[in-house]
Amino acid sequence: MLGLMQDWPLTLDRIIAHARTWHGETEVVSRSIEGPILRSTYGQIHERARRLSRVLLDLGVQPGDRVGAMALNTGRHLEVWYGVMGIGAVCHTLNPRMSPDQICYIINHAEDRIIFCDAIFLPILHSRRDQMPSVQRIIALNDEDYEPLIAAAAPGDLAWGGFDENTAAGLCYTSGTTGEPKGVLYSHRSNFLHTFATMSADVMGVSSRDVVLPVVPMFHANAWGLAFSGPAAGAKLVMPGAKLDGASIFELLETEKVTLSAAVPTVFQMLLTYLRETGQRLTTLQRVVIGGAALPPALMHAFQDEQDVLVVHAWGMTETSPLGVVSMPESRVAALSPAAQRVHLEKQGRPPIGIELRIADETGADLPHDGQAVGRLMVRGVFVAGGYFRGEGGDILDDRGFFDTGDIATIDEYGFMEITDRAKDVIKSGGEWISSIEIENLTMAHPAVEIAAVVGAAHPKWDERPVVVAKLKPEASVDRAEILAFLEGKIPRWWTPDDVVFVDDIPLGPTGKVDKKLIRQRMAGYVLPTA
Ligand code: AMP
Repeated sequence: MLGLMQDWPLTLDRIIAHARTWHGETEVVSRSIEGPILRSTYGQIHERARRLSRVLLDLGVQPGDRVGAMALNTGRHLEVWYGVMGIGAVCHTLNPRMSPDQICYIINHAEDRIIFCDAIFLPILHSRRDQMPSVQRIIALNDEDYEPLIAAAAPGDLAWGGFDENTAAGLCYTSGTTGEPKGVLYSHRSNFLHTFATMSADVMGVSSRDVVLPVVPMFHANAWGLAFSGPAAGAKLVMPGAKLDGASIFELLETEKVTLSAAVPTVFQMLLTYLRETGQRLTTLQRVVIGGAALPPALMHAFQDEQDVLVVHAWGMTETSPLGVVSMPESRVAALSPAAQRVHLEKQGRPPIGIELRIADETGADLPHDGQAVGRLMVRGVFVAGGYFRGEGGDILDDRGFFDTGDIATIDEYGFMEITDRAKDVIKSGGEWISSIEIENLTMAHPAVEIAAVVGAAHPKWDERPVVVAKLKPEASVDRAEILAFLEGKIPRWWTPDDVVFVDDIPLGPTGKVDKKLIRQRMAGYVLPTA
């Protein structure tokens, strides 16, 4: 027997329509790419997104066609999303930090017809323009190119929505550590349900009283859904554009009275450095969700102790829309002493409704939630990818429908998942695994260290041994022995790195994560002192 409730397809146009009707005066503030602060409202964003839909229809864009967007977080970018998705076309977010060849590859793979692009990224597209046969037009998101189109468009009674909620809405390619990048194709339904999940109190807890600054880019993993949950909740949005340095973020946080932010660790590390150097204090920010790469506990506690800002650790990936787990104190953990709580809250966290997690051994069998057993992290759920665009990578689910994240993790008795490594970065020593992330976090707690990576180096007896690769803070000095002494007693003895190598630069990949592949390449001729 079927229920008798109304059929109300979960299409994303309803989110911005809700914001227009119930939060129409709520602001969307952007630091424009050109510099000045631009102010808009949900009412205006809705109207302009409908005009953009008209522009697309006049250009012949059909439902299912891919429309590219290579843009930083701004109100205009938001209009592009809703304008594209509202008519059933697919918004393909393009990461400008990928190499031009990769960008060209994914544009062709997606067969984008139109591309909206911040003017600063036009040279990237123009450098490969003759190799993108599907692209009919590139529109710069600036006053000269974009604004006249919006001004001239008459949306009239053009229809938004009205299609199946399983219709594709967005396409995002993962940066592809092996092989070519692969496309994750979100549906209206999956993004809508991700919005509900992430708005809840134990995830991001977004409300209409929040002022939200998404530092995480819309072009990578959907700005963790904030471009949907912000308007869905009626929260004021503050879009940082191109300036993510400590001073610029601080200025926006304070002048716009931001209460909630979301970022990768490196950006908040830069902010912390700025706050310490200038002695400034954050007066409105209450909490920040940090993920995308492991959050060093030292960073987490510094914000809590020095700025009274709650730092919440989260894990996710492009394939999980992206939020998979968030580290909020579950009732039993909330009852523990602050010190005992920390042990759990430093981990990546627990899954919200809609996500199922397990860790598996080499045979695929479940491992216990004891905080000790280490296995492959497997995930399934309502906003998890079931396959890649055009079937790349083949069948990506196991026989129980779980996706192998490629991460290695433990799950403790309170349900807190902790990533110990990326499967390809695991250090295998004498048949046992050493967690590079744990040694990195501990090393980064040393006051002289700006950023550190731990990689495995070949060893004749043990297969691999850990090596710390560290970049020091300007004018700081420390030697190998001091770093090793600093780690002593904090890790099992046999995890003690065999060497510490000091470098001037730790390379970051296109999504802001430390590029260990490149570090290993740079260390090609390196021989362990113990080998
Ligand atoms: P992407 O799809 O580019 O967002 O990358 C997802 C990957 O980033 C995950 O599979 C993890 O390896 C890594 N990652 C994301 N969040 C965290 C975190 N909090 N701690 C450690 N690794 C993370």
